[in-house]
Amino acid sequence: MGAIWQRPTMAVAASVRQNGGMDAELLRKIYLVVVVVAVGSALLEGVVLSWVARRAYDWRGSMVSLAIAAGRRLTDFVPLAIALPGAQWLYEHRLVDWNLRSPWTWLTLFLVVEFAYYWFHRISHRVRWFWATHAVHHSPNQYNLSAAYRLGWTGKFSLTLMLFTPIAWLGFSPQVIVLAFSLNLLYQFWIHAEWIPRLGWLEGVFNTPSAHRVHHASNVEYLDANYGGVLVVFDRLFGTYVPENRATPIRYGWVKPITSNNPLRIVFQQWIDIVADLRRARSVREVGGYLFGPPGWQPDGRGPTTENLRREATAFRGND
Ligand SMILES: [Zn+2]
Ligand SMILES: [Zn+2]
Repeated sequence: MGAIWQRPTMAVAASVRQNGGMDAELLRKIYLVVVVVAVGSALLEGVVLSWVARRAYDWRGSMVSLAIAAGRRLTDFVPLAIALPGAQWLYEHRLVDWNLRSPWTWLTLFLVVEFAYYWFHRISHRVRWFWATHAVHHSPNQYNLSAAYRLGWTGKFSLTLMLFTPIAWLGFSPQVIVLAFSLNLLYQFWIHAEWIPRLGWLEGVFNTPSAHRVHHASNVEYLDANYGGVLVVFDRLFGTYVPENRATPIRYGWVKPITSNNPLRIVFQQWIDIVADLRRARSVREVGGYLFGPPGWQPDGRGPTTENLRREATAFRGND
């Protein structure tokens, strides 16, 4: 790859120290810029949509997202070792020593992280224990840029990020993995927009606003689709890619929508529901199902899981 890659690659390489740690001061500065730009553009979107385009904009939901993003900072004290258990040890016993000055290294890291992200995200939707955290991101009933930073607080404790741990063995330090993961999430900021149309050939390769609208939809035909971060290539490979059909109006939010605007309720609602179900459990099988079954799982097999909802929808259509 040519010279245009050289400067940014060298700059990132220089910020990664010998032990795989990152330049903390540099990261802090970048983080601040990102926060200002993200919150600024989400607010600008709200102003334009509500005052210029005269569309209904959910200001309350937008403020709730901001409050949840701010509150999430409280979990900053949780060390990386808890989020990525064993990653430092694996890094010390790494298989490969990468040349951080080569753009191929960063391209490899991007693809490996994207692959891990796909499975992390898929499991976050299919296993209730992980959904409990991720559901916070899917709680807004209106789709706008502020939804991008409405993220759960409990991911570090539920070990959701464990899927990224093996990447350390491949030779990337925990800090570098977190950097790549954060950049992946950062890319996803702009795709949380209703007003950006389908983007031609980019659809089917990249995760676009259209593809991610489908991901945030709670319409039965759209559930559990488009898990990719930057790409939808792995969705296509593993059969979870669903293109947007503009004829189907999208309903956003949870299958059973949450109407509360209390940030704490939104952050902990799924955990509260899990505890309530566990108190009802009568056997080890039921405990396992309530914790690690798909969201909606019930002991009688009739709970509102994606599969059951689809079956009911098909049966309903069949009765027409
Ligand atoms: Zn999701
Ligand atoms: Zn999203």
